[in-house]
Amino acid sequence: MASTNRSAAEWQALDSAHHLHPFTDHKELHEKRSRIVSGADGVYIYDADGGKILDGMSGLWCVNVGYGRKELADAAYRQMQELPYYNSFFQCTNPPAVELAALLQEISPPQFNRVFFTGSGSESNDTIVRMVRTYWDLMGHPGRHTIISRRNAYHGSTVAAASLGGMAPMHKQAGLPIPGIEHIEQPYWFGSDRSLSPEAFGLETARALERKILDLGADKVAAFIGEPIQGAGGVIIPPSSYWPEIQRICDEYGILLISDEVITGFGRLGTWFGAEHVGTRPDFMPFAKGVTSGYMPLGGVFVSDRVADVLIDKAGEFAHGYTYSGHPTACAVAIENLKVIQREGLVERIRDDIGPYLKTRWLELAAHPLVGEARMVGLMGAIELVRNEEPVERFDKSVGAGTVCRDYAIESGVVMRAVGDSMIIAPPFTLSHDEADELIERARMALDKTLDTLKP
Ligand SMILES: *Cc1c(COP(=O)(O)O)cnc(C)c1O
Repeated sequence: MASTNRSAAEWQALDSAHHLHPFTDHKELHEKRSRIVSGADGVYIYDADGGKILDGMSGLWCVNVGYGRKELADAAYRQMQELPYYNSFFQCTNPPAVELAALLQEISPPQFNRVFFTGSGSESNDTIVRMVRTYWDLMGHPGRHTIISRRNAYHGSTVAAASLGGMAPMHKQAGLPIPGIEHIEQPYWFGSDRSLSPEAFGLETARALERKILDLGADKVAAFIGEPIQGAGGVIIPPSSYWPEIQRICDEYGILLISDEVITGFGRLGTWFGAEHVGTRPDFMPFAKGVTSGYMPLGGVFVSDRVADVLIDKAGEFAHGYTYSGHPTACAVAIENLKVIQREGLVERIRDDIGPYLKTRWLELAAHPLVGEARMVGLMGAIELVRNEEPVERFDKSVGAGTVCRDYAIESGVVMRAVGDSMIIAPPFTLSHDEADELIERARMALDKTLDTLKP
């Protein structure tokens, strides 16, 4: 291993000197020093200081089958010896890419028979922007180029994907969004004034899509994109009225629906895809993260027959692709990962066993004096930290309640992520009942310490 012959302090000094991190304030990082994660097994990560931490976030929502899976390492090793890399350009293909495409077709909803491979979720969404606009050009509607998304959505970090996303701090830097992308409000009931019932609020926020379409002109609107459950935005679970109304509106105006499955794909909600959980029939499903459980970088786009048939029939060459589209080693690892999920019945396990169990335990945290709401679906959950529960009073932003709680969580031995004052989790699918209990116990410790600090 690379990590054997340097001390933690040496790693940190070199890191500060040479390594620019994603989504990081480097001045702050250099004062605090980075945490060196040097090993992992099952649902635990180990840091260079000897800490054993329960990974409540599956890395970044991706290590779904847990760490230390020898079968995935073996699949990569075998494929690297056979054919480590070859491209899928110039009328070439390779067995793992074909095998994976066929397997993905089997597990996906019936409107999907084709898949385009990329290296990440961001690249998948960039690909979709080009496919959507090309589709409408080929259909004889070149004016139909606008894609509607939602505030606080996360669709990736490349220029087009960050534009599709609705993160204000991302848009502030470098002149985003690009033209032809519009944002409407998100279905975040707890973040609203709560004057409507959740169901009425769900309908109302879905109808923002219809108002935006009518405002822009239906002949200008190409597609709507949304995560079934918003992840990076804070695990926003929409009221059950929301997605059926979005589907109705897309159908009524002939607009393509993109279900961003980068987090919700491959089982996290107790269904293979989030679209199945919320009951939509998307035209595109971008995926990444969980397709390999993060063991190799790989992404892709499910393209529905409605779109793929037109692209294949009329586009000639679709002038788009990545060096690593259909990367044989990444695809071999993805095949093995999906087989593990099938063999161990992990999707059913989330639906019938660990999902309901963890949800029951997680919702108990709502009784804590710092928690205004606890919510969970599948293995994605959030709690909202509040200064006062009834009536709800949020902390002032300057308090940084979420960050305080996140640091106490690590200290207590569990990774939870802070999104503003929401604490979120998305643990591996293999989490046992005992580990779920441990996660709750450690989260409660973090809440207690946060309470002591913020309300002495
Ligand atoms: C992480 C994420 C992306 C971006 O994926 P990358 O592999 O980081 O480019 C896109 N959409 C959603 C919903 C995500 O959570």
